[in-house]
Amino acid sequence: MTEDDIGSRHMNPDEVEKYSMGTLSEAEAAPFDEHLLVCEKCRTLVEASDAYVAAMRAAAKRTRQQAGKTEPRSRFDVKASGAVGRFG
Ligand SMILES: [Zn+2]
Repeated sequence: MTEDDIGSRHMNPDEVEKYSMGTLSEAEAAPFDEHLLVCEKCRTLVEASDAYVAAMRAAAKRTRQQAGKTEPRSRFDVKASGAVGRFG
């Protein structure tokens, strides 16, 4: 039985996802860390998953900001146009 020997087998999609999301404990992630050092194939999968997770988090953050938007930019626009007007 070598099921514990994660370092010698590839990560499955579920493991890749959990690894990128950071939901694995240190003990669970350690064998993957080791495997990723030697396996470019899984490293590519984790990088793609990392990008996906980052995009999801950015989108969630943007949605939250839009929900409570305060529009601080309109004040800046007025100031800027006033400054430009002075040169005219
Ligand atoms: Zn692998």
